[in-house]
Amino acid sequence: MTSVYVFGIILAVLLAAVLIAPLFERGEAVGSGSSPAERLEVALDALREIEFEHETGKIGDDDYRELRARYAADAIAARDAGAGEASPMAGRCAVCDADLKPESRFCSLCGTEVAA
Ligand SMILES: [Zn+2]
Repeated sequence: MTSVYVFGIILAVLLAAVLIAPLFERGEAVGSGSSPAERLEVALDALREIEFEHETGKIGDDDYRELRARYAADAIAARDAGAGEASPMAGRCAVCDADLKPESRFCSLCGTEVAA
């Protein structure tokens, strides 16, 4: 019953390929190509986008909070990965560069806690 045995192996290999392929595709997309600066820019664009969509009522509060947290995390990760300029200017958010009120503890745009 060699043919059944071979057929089983082929099936297993195909199944493994199907399971593994998405991992490779994802790694490729995240890894090469986009620099930290580009990823930071993408995340900040997304933050501005969801801010606008929230204001215009396109997305609800829950979605807005969830998305904002995600994109802010992306922006912070990209900045930490080397996109960051030397030090944040006083009165501006270190992540999204939004103007900050002197008394505010959190950025009104991306929600990042403002360093003292
Ligand atoms: Zn911000």
